Amino acid sequence: MAPRIVHELESKFGSEYGPEEEAAVLRVLRENAPTSGDACIQFEQDFAAYTGTEYARAVSNGTAALFLALLALGVKKGDRVLTTPLTWIATAAAGVTLGAEVDFIDIDPKTYNLDPAQLEKKLTPKTKAVIPVHLYGQCCDMDEILALSRQHGFAVVEDACHALGAEYKGRKAGSMGALGCFSFHEQKNISTLGEGGIITTGDAALFEKVALYRSHCTRVYGKSSKYCSIDETQRPKGKRFWYQDFDDCGYNFRMTDIQGAVGSEQLKKLDDLNAKRIAAARYLTQHLQEVPGLTLPCEAPECKHVYHLYPLQIDAVKFGMSKEDFVYAMLHEHGIKVGTHYIPLHYSTAFRTRGFHQGQFPVVEDIAERLVTLPIHPRLTLEALEYLAGAIRKLSGTA
Ligand SMILES: *Cc1c(COP(=O)(O)O)cnc(C)c1O
Repeated sequence: MAPRIVHELESKFGSEYGPEEEAAVLRVLRENAPTSGDACIQFEQDFAAYTGTEYARAVSNGTAALFLALLALGVKKGDRVLTTPLTWIATAAAGVTLGAEVDFIDIDPKTYNLDPAQLEKKLTPKTKAVIPVHLYGQCCDMDEILALSRQHGFAVVEDACHALGAEYKGRKAGSMGALGCFSFHEQKNISTLGEGGIITTGDAALFEKVALYRSHCTRVYGKSSKYCSIDETQRPKGKRFWYQDFDDCGYNFRMTDIQGAVGSEQLKKLDDLNAKRIAAARYLTQHLQEVPGLTLPCEAPECKHVYHLYPLQIDAVKFGMSKEDFVYAMLHEHGIKVGTHYIPLHYSTAFRTRGFHQGQFPVVEDIAERLVTLPIHPRLTLEALEYLAGAIRKLSGTA
């Protein structure tokens, strides 16, 4: 086993930094490293332009983005929020922490995204929001979901945390629903120093709510003019007299300017970083397609898949090894940590104690028996990819 290659296969970090990010950090540091100032506002403008949305507001992480998005829609106790059971817990927790009733929609077995055909059956008049998750970097069937949204009047909040730069019919992830939520956690396709998030929207009223609740619902008024800002950090410059009012009690989910400045540099690199992920996925697909008992990722023709992760199903009989034995052997025989993203959420204690149980979502339950995720990120070399595909072929006995 080659230790350097094994180190390269570590999937802890999803992006990479260079001299541009270093310079950005130093520049803002020398300006006293403020929070949510000019560098954050610049990042928000850059991000809105990149995704083709009207507004963007940077926040502390993706979990805060999802929470604020639902809050802006007015989600509260008595409302229903629907999402997929195959996601990170933050997606479902956003509704729960606002007191709403969260329910799941089973998945499409080919794309692993929530199945719009199952969605319709789960709608009730209380359904306020649906959160499609663009899982592993491939967008959901948005035309179907948006058509149901128009028909039934629920709001669509895209969880685009895996899908930075992904596209659906030429539209960027996060630009199709009422609001889009992104994360810049260290494992995501770009990062703002380990944590970070952003909310996109085309709706001025929703944007105002997001902006208010992100920062204690502050409005700033200039005494000598009608100037009014919805954010304390955008107070009227040069005006001697201004005062602060609070519309309501809100939160502090702000992003710092050092993170914002790094975000703008990362965003310039996003397409290149994604191109490397896509090339790595092509290599894996090409070198694993002959291996019996593997189900490789399926790319929908209308999507640009950005491979946040590379999902793979292991058929125990045809591959000759169960998923559990595969994960164990990859780690102990080859030093490669294979992921198992995610535990179907209705299996978790958090949702079992809320009345969910095995048997409710047969498609995801069946797939979860076989599903693993391979490490994929832009720093993988050809050597590391050869080692990864080679290890899988060895375990299958086809090397
Ligand atoms: C990472 C992630 C989140 C939450 O983002 P954080 O920045 O870690 O809070 C939400 N949903 C999905 C699908 C994610 O992968």
